[in-house]
Amino acid sequence: MNAMVIDRADRIWAAIADVPDPEIPAITLLDLGVVRDVRVTSDGAGEILITPTYTGCPATIAIHAMVRTALDDAGLGDVQIRSILSPPWTTDWISDEGRAKLRAYGIAPPERGDGRGSLKEEGPAVCPQCNSSNTVEISRFGSTPCKALWKCQDCSEPFDRFKCI
Ligand SMILES: [Zn+2]
Repeated sequence: MNAMVIDRADRIWAAIADVPDPEIPAITLLDLGVVRDVRVTSDGAGEILITPTYTGCPATIAIHAMVRTALDDAGLGDVQIRSILSPPWTTDWISDEGRAKLRAYGIAPPERGDGRGSLKEEGPAVCPQCNSSNTVEISRFGSTPCKALWKCQDCSEPFDRFKCI
């Protein structure tokens, strides 16, 4: 790879670094792990490979639109956005920084290693307020289909849990 190609890839990564998750603006798309790769094509343009989170999640459309806007704003209008469906996104791709941001935002992050392919049952959620595991699921669907609503039995706070997939 020559320096120009590396420089261009860096510019693309930088342009999308701060794009937030449309559903949880406290974390970025990079935290979420949906941006799989940035490639600079032989014609000098480039493409971004994005794996959608939950199938049918309306956020997918918003994610593409927000990445498009960020690229256009950075003068990278010729960069293509391509969806990659395989392998499917898993909550295991959420970065440690992303998990910490979710917790700070009041959402119990998915446990690493509990994602797709794990044979483990999901354990109790850890309360983002008081760290108690004395929690119960109230509803399989929280504020969005991607989250479940839980309640802490120690501090009585309800909270969203990011579902593991
Ligand atoms: Zn609690």
